[in-house]
Amino acid sequence: MRRRFVIDHMLGRLARYLRFMGYDVHYPTGRESDDALIERARREGRVIITRDRGLSERCETAVYVPHHDIGGQLVWFFRTFGGSLRIRADRCTVCNSPLRPVSPEEVADIVPEGVLQRNSEFYRCDGCGRVYWWGTHAERMERDIEAAWKKALEETLSGVLKGEGCALHICGLAVNLYEVCGEECDDPYALCHRLAKRMTDAGFPSELVSVEVDGASFRAAFEVRPSPDEYE
Ligand SMILES: [Zn+2]
Repeated sequence: MRRRFVIDHMLGRLARYLRFMGYDVHYPTGRESDDALIERARREGRVIITRDRGLSERCETAVYVPHHDIGGQLVWFFRTFGGSLRIRADRCTVCNSPLRPVSPEEVADIVPEGVLQRNSEFYRCDGCGRVYWWGTHAERMERDIEAAWKKALEETLSGVLKGEGCALHICGLAVNLYEVCGEECDDPYALCHRLAKRMTDAGFPSELVSVEVDGASFRAAFEVRPSPDEYE
């Protein structure tokens, strides 16, 4: 089952991002004491994510997030809990209820005319009635999440690679992984092919690479695009 969370009142933005990814997140709307949060986490099998060290030390399933900014928090989240990049966008970011698809006709009197013309897919929250569509706000959140995921992956891999002295490339991260690879090369593509070949020669599955560090597992699409001069 997917992890479920309690997020403390100082992390409202993180709560919305995690819901956007489809996680079931309890976020206190009114005043909810630490005791009440801990009780809920235990009762419902949730992990508490908090900025409060005191709270994190009081509960066995609570973790302290050491970052103020949402970018740092997201990278921390992926490094701590792993998880895939698949964004579900099937949960209300405001009240945590599931969303259900609705027809444009059903929301015609609610959403602005321009939005109705530009979009064909709409979702409605049965909990609070909000209507969602894939607009610029969602795109921005998606970009933030993707950037954080890549950074988390890169940081994780750099830890692995530095220790092992082996080389690895995941497409899309070639340039960022440069220094870690210990290879000097002016051409990122050539480097990519060389490392990809070395990986497949070493027996890595060609479609997926999975890396585990401190219990956090990352899976990334791994494309081997053979270059003719190396594979013929
Ligand atoms: Zn809602």
